[in-house]
Order: sequence, then structure tokens, then C-alpha cells
Amino acid sequence: MARLACTTALQDRMREAYREVIEAASDPGQRVAWCSSVGPVELLRALGFRVFIPENHAAMLGASRMATDLIPEATALGYSPDICSYLTSDIGAFCRGVTALSRVDPSFREVPRPDVLVHESQQCREVGDWFQWYGDRLGVPVLGVPAPRAVEEVTPDLVQALASRIEALVEPLEAIAGRSLDLARLRDVVAISRETSRRWQQVLAMGEVRPAPWTFFDACIQMGPAVVLRGDRRALAHYDLLQEELRHRVMAGVAAVPEEQVRLYWEGMPIWGRLRDLSERLASLRAAVVGSTYCSSWVFEALDPDRPFESMAQAGLELFISRTDPVKERILEEEARRYSVSGIVFHDAKTCPYNSNSRFGMPRRLTRDRGIPTVTIQSDLNDLRLHFDEGVHLALEAFVEQCREAMP
Ligand code: SF4
Repeated sequence: MARLACTTALQDRMREAYREVIEAASDPGQRVAWCSSVGPVELLRALGFRVFIPENHAAMLGASRMATDLIPEATALGYSPDICSYLTSDIGAFCRGVTALSRVDPSFREVPRPDVLVHESQQCREVGDWFQWYGDRLGVPVLGVPAPRAVEEVTPDLVQALASRIEALVEPLEAIAGRSLDLARLRDVVAISRETSRRWQQVLAMGEVRPAPWTFFDACIQMGPAVVLRGDRRALAHYDLLQEELRHRVMAGVAAVPEEQVRLYWEGMPIWGRLRDLSERLASLRAAVVGSTYCSSWVFEALDPDRPFESMAQAGLELFISRTDPVKERILEEEARRYSVSGIVFHDAKTCPYNSNSRFGMPRRLTRDRGIPTVTIQSDLNDLRLHFDEGVHLALEAFVEQCREAMP
């Protein structure tokens, strides 16, 4: 499979972004905030913070296959190996004095020290515990925004309640930033984030084309700017470049999976240490994973510069991970139709129950009530002790064959 040419530009942009936040951490005139991936990044940027996303760092630990070896460090501190392997591998890396950033540039020797840690809890409990560990260890404030989970309907009352909690962060963050919030600047940042989301959604939609010009595995790499540079114009430039390359592929009939036959949808976390292996294995079966709930989670359609706090709240509440099972099932049916897939692969990530939707009957209900074939693979996002290549390969091979046989 051909590597996307814009990956080199992506690596340069990400390196530059990490360098900026690392340099800010040693500059007394700048402030660094760590933020959860669905946290109020726009507010932090508007207040002048350089932003670091620990989940992105943890994913890099997984993708570089450093994570598994680091998890026991956190276990020794009393954190169960059964909880989020982002948390355990990231804390393990800190304790061991290593960072995945060094794989980006050997001169990056440690994660940038924060002046504040900010998180929202709609995704899970773990992210709060994770940030609190650093807050205690480094003696810096942790600001958590309680947010509802299992949301059936995103009502105006829910939006307003969460928006008020996000707005309540302004005063303590202004004190740490040493400046007042400029509402016009916040609106600008929200507008850039919304535009980033729109362009990310447009490139994801290229997976609807048959044959698909790229796959979920490519998108897991290309989503870096949507996560790390949300609210920063450089993300826009990157997605323009990516879109141009994908359009070129579509016009030239270039398929990410040559002779694509079976189209699949991925539900759940990536298996970071096996992206290449799974991509190649599925390609050898002429199967392309053309869409995913994971990559679509960085599409924040609700963002609106005219209602910055309310729209940030609404975007967070609309996230797939924060919804009830019936809502998730409706979304999955729409996605399966949109991407014209033959079936859905559910990843039961052993250390992330929040983003593993196969445990309470959803795959069977999707097949029984909506006619969508599914398979569930057992693995993990970062802990490769929970991943068995042979079992995953066999399950995928059998499922691809089942989908192929059912094709008209
Ligand atoms: S959603 Fe899952 S992977 Fe992400 S921080 Fe929470 S437990 Fe970890």
C-alpha cells in the first residue's frame, strides 16, 4: 500500500507543535496546560496557554510499542493493570523517565511540565485520576469539569449546565495565565476549531468512495493535527494538503487496498501497536476498513463562535462515547450505510470499557434488528499482553470471508 505523501509534512508539523510546547515549559513568560482530548482546548488557547494532550502522548507510547513494558511501573504504584492502559503506560513512562516524544525528535527528552491540568469527565473516570496523579506529583492545580455520560438526548438544559461549568474555569485559568480572557480571541479559536472539524470530516468522508483512497489505519496517523492542533490554523493547512492528495487518488482510481472487495467499519479504540500489522493483514484479504467511530470522534460539528461556551458544551455532549446504547446503535447504522460497509469490527479493548461497546449485546442487536454483520475482537489499545495476533487474525479472516460470501 502506498504511503500518503503528506505524511512527511504531518511529521514536520507535529514535531514543530511538540517543540513549541516543550520550549514553552522552560520559558517563564509562557504557560503550559495539559488538557484531555475532549476538554476545553479552545478556552486554553484563547488564554495563551500552550496545550499538551496526554492521550496523544499515550497513543504514541502504544504506536511505538513502548507502552507494554512501562505499564508495570504504574502497577507498582497501586494502579491496576486492568484500568486504562493510556493512564498506566503514560504514568509508567514518567516514572521511568522516558517519553515517546523522543521518537519524534531525540532532543525531546521529557514531556513538557504543566502549569495546570484540565479535563472533562464525559469520556470516563480514568482521565481525572490520571491528571490528578500528575497534579499531586508535580504540585500543580487540576481543574476538572464534571460532565454527564450515557446521554440520550442533548437537551438545552444539559448544554447550559455544562457550559456554565466550562465558563467557571475562566477565573482560575485567568489567574494562572496572568491575563484576562478576550472573548473575541475565544470566538476566533472556536471558529478555527470548527473549521478544523469540518475539514477533518471532509477527509474522513473520502472513505465513502469505492475503492477507498485511504483507510482507518491511515486516518489514525493523520488525525494528529485534529487532536493536537485543534484551534490552531496549522491544522487547516494540513487537512487541505491531505484532501488534495486524497482527491488526486480518487481521480486516478488509486485504492488504499488494491482490488478492494470487502468494506468494513471499525468500532472502538485502535490497537496502536498493531496498526501496520492489521492494515497489511486486511489488505492481503482485499478488505478495507473505510470508516470508524474513533476517528469521527474528532468531528465537533456543534462548535459555533457566536456561542463559544454553549457550543463547546454541546460538542462534548454529542460525542459518541458519551451517548446511550440506543443512540450509538442509530449512529452505527447510519455510518454503516454511509460508508457502504459489509460489516462492523468491534474492538473490545480490555482496559477501556468506556470505548468498548461489545459487552452488553450491541453487536448482536445490530445484526438482529438492523441486519448488520459484526465481529468482536479481543485486544487492547496499548497493552499488548492482552493482544494475541493469531486469535485476532483468525477472527478477522473468518469475518471477511463471511462478508465476502454474503456479497451479491
Ligand atoms: S476513554 Fe478509555 S482510553 Fe480514553 S482515557 Fe478513558 S479509559 Fe483511557
